[in-house]
Amino acid sequence: MVSWLCDKCGYTFKADAPPEVCPSCKSDCSFVDNTCYTPDCAGEPFDPQIKGEK
Ligand SMILES: [Zn+2]
Repeated sequence: MVSWLCDKCGYTFKADAPPEVCPSCKSDCSFVDNTCYTPDCAGEPFDPQIKGEK
């Protein structure tokens, strides 16, 4: 399972693949994989340092 971050509204959700349309803002936006792969964020499902790059 991968955590995805909407680069428009910042909505995060988990899915195997990013959806075509954001379930939150319903926009055609791109998604950032912000899954936390490091032990630093134990307990956090995603990395708080990864925000949508604009
Ligand atoms: Zn969105």
